[in-house]
Amino acid sequence: MGTTSATSAISTFACAWCGLTVSAYASDGVARNHCPSCLHSRHVLDQVEGGPSDCEGRMSAIAIAVLRTGDWRVIHRCVRCDELTSNSVRPDDNQLVLMRTAVRPLAQPPFPLEAFGSL
Ligand SMILES: [Zn+2]
Ligand SMILES: [Zn+2]
Repeated sequence: MGTTSATSAISTFACAWCGLTVSAYASDGVARNHCPSCLHSRHVLDQVEGGPSDCEGRMSAIAIAVLRTGDWRVIHRCVRCDELTSNSVRPDDNQLVLMRTAVRPLAQPPFPLEAFGSL
């Protein structure tokens, strides 16, 4: 019996959206809190401090933020309490879903793009 066996039992979680069994640690050993396949997360205690945390609502990835360092962060919004959080992108996150999330505002501009033609 190893002393580390107790923690291995809780090192996975089921994705709230697609049901994938997700390892709580990414391939680089850093803790992860969102699904690498669909990027959904769950609103639990280890999110933003001081917020209406722990509602356990599903959190959907609504945007990508780029830090000054060039690192990408996924912006999650809780579907139950509307709290926003940001989480660092993990190396095994689905790159197609990341790109789709990042370009979504460009694909759906709130104004007609024809205006740029006359500039
Ligand atoms: Zn998922
Ligand atoms: Zn919430």
